[in-house]
Amino acid sequence: MAVDEARYTARFIIIATGSRPMRPDIPGQELAVTSDEAFSLPHFPKRLVIVGGGYIAVEFAGIFNGMGAHTTLIHRGTLVLRGFDDDARGFLAEQMQKKGVSFRFDTEVNALTRIPGGSRVSLSTGEDLEADLVMVAIGRVPQVSGLGLDALGIARAESGAIVVNDEYRSSVPSVYAIGDVIDRVRLTPLAIAEGMAVSRCLFGNAAHGVDYDNIPTAVFSQPELATVGLTEASARARFDQIKVYKTRFTPLKYTLSGRDERAFLKLIVATPSDRVAGAHGAGGGRSDPRHRHRSQGRGHQGGVRCHLGHTPHAGRGIRDSAPVASIACGFNLQTHV
Ligand SMILES: Cc1cc2nc3c(=O)[nH]c(=O)nc-3n(C[C@H](O)[C@H](O)[C@H](O)COP(=O)(O)OP(=O)(O)OC[C@H]3O[C@@H](n4cnc5c(N)ncnc54)[C@H](O)[C@@H]3O)c2cc1C
Repeated sequence: MAVDEARYTARFIIIATGSRPMRPDIPGQELAVTSDEAFSLPHFPKRLVIVGGGYIAVEFAGIFNGMGAHTTLIHRGTLVLRGFDDDARGFLAEQMQKKGVSFRFDTEVNALTRIPGGSRVSLSTGEDLEADLVMVAIGRVPQVSGLGLDALGIARAESGAIVVNDEYRSSVPSVYAIGDVIDRVRLTPLAIAEGMAVSRCLFGNAAHGVDYDNIPTAVFSQPELATVGLTEASARARFDQIKVYKTRFTPLKYTLSGRDERAFLKLIVATPSDRVAGAHGAGGGRSDPRHRHRSQGRGHQGGVRCHLGHTPHAGRGIRDSAPVASIACGFNLQTHV
């Protein structure tokens, strides 16, 4: 391996160079920033346009809107957070809107043009928006440029991701890769788990891979959202019969303070086994790891018992089956973790 003038050799090399933000192929795209620059802006924007609908787009929309920027999110899909449960997505968009974020769904950005103090954003609907700042958050690609992977003959997927086997070994046996650069699940705890799996494979007694099923995930939107397991649509596709419990309510702390904020809970249970197939919640501190304490709850009402299967100890701020358990307790279901 060459680093400037230095040359290094090693029995094993692990590539963990992460990912980089994608930019849209439109005129004027260079006028926009990405999340990489969002924390080092020269001026706070009064009018912000965010392009994208994933968790990075909704998280930044919440941050800037909360700090007083007039924030508009443009997304080519029908709702934010593709892949999450539809009810949770709808609830989040509705609550964000209530907090002041404007949305343009089913809309593409055709071009950005420089205007004094900012950019004009031309939309596929014919509408033009003016913004002090445009941020694009349309996805990320593996960071592989400049590594000389082609010269080494390291196989890559169409996305550019380094192709690895179950032990994270690339097509060149002494080279391993983990994290965003292999483009499996792009989350910090997963990158850490993959690193631990490689060290176990290379230096431990037994090879244990990483379990990518049922990863508890939190989105630090406002309100925040937490999810684990299947969406209702995928549960319907997988099981013959399911039961869906869902509710919206005002959390006690907001009732007392008079804040107009709601929370949403949804539990999907496969029947007749009563196994929890998916749990989704938004608002009311849903991403807070303290919800784990509520997993000790043993409410029992309506004769439904919920068995919570194993969830990997990895997630964005949630370290156990807390979201499922807290949601199950929210419905007063008897909960076995
Ligand atoms: C805005 C944003 C918010 C996120 N929020 C969350 C969150 O809340 N929770 C969560 O779990 N995940 C979150 N993620 C995802 C998370 O950051 C990544 O999944 C995680 O960092 C991947 O780890 P990694 O080690 O693969 O890559 P990285 O953490 O990106 O580390 C890669 C490192 O390699 C360095 N590097 C790159 N190329 C070279 C080179 N040629 N030579 C030397 N060094 C190089 C980079 O500078 C970087 O330091 C977020 C990502 C973004 C962009």
